[in-house]
Amino acid sequence: MKLLLGTTNPGKTREILAILGDIPGIRWLTPAEVPVPTVPETGTTFLENALLKARTIAAATGYATLAEDSGLEVDALGGAPGVQSARYAGDPPDYAANNAQLLAALAEVGDRRARFRTVAALALPEGRVWTAEGTLEGTIADAPRGRGGFGYDPLFVPVGETRTLAEMSAAEKNALSHRRRALEGLRPFLTQLAVGTKSKRPGVRSLSLRYWRRGGKRRP
Ligand code: IMP
Repeated sequence: MKLLLGTTNPGKTREILAILGDIPGIRWLTPAEVPVPTVPETGTTFLENALLKARTIAAATGYATLAEDSGLEVDALGGAPGVQSARYAGDPPDYAANNAQLLAALAEVGDRRARFRTVAALALPEGRVWTAEGTLEGTIADAPRGRGGFGYDPLFVPVGETRTLAEMSAAEKNALSHRRRALEGLRPFLTQLAVGTKSKRPGVRSLSLRYWRRGGKRRP
């Protein structure tokens, strides 16, 4: 089965392939091989944007498509930057500028709690869609540390850790990340599709409760 990766973000691409690349029977395609339309992220939630990307790209290319939308939610900023995470400091996206902007916004703030959130969506060209969500709780550091990962990783310290995500190896980040938790929710459906067994439950499937419950948390 051919599965198109609906992202051009190199950080996301690396992580998605490291997490789901072991499923037998899937030949991954990237936008380097199959031209994909640019999908304006007009949704107000990660779910809306993930669905928009996966559905639009699947319909336009004719390939089953895996897409995701993700970002950082900072409690003291009312959930910002949220769906604006990529362009928090303006367009075009700039990771260093985003991190500087975040530190400036939190300069006088003691509550540094935050979380990463990913919603992953798998869409088939004929319309069936599955989604799953994953979160990772943590705090925002006082200054960037580490050279790994991408985006806000140099500022994000997961709960129970002293290192930022950027100070971890790729394997360490992928073992605990929001992206892993979301993508693992799609693994059963991808595995079924790859062996040619079609799910009997059409429509949008949300597996996110499974992960919220596992973490002992329910999000609105
Ligand atoms: P989008 O999903 O393309 O709208 O962009 C998500 C943005 O959120 C990225 O450009 C990063 O700035 C940030 N982001 C998402 N996931 C991660 C992550 O795992 N580490 C660090 N930053 C992330």
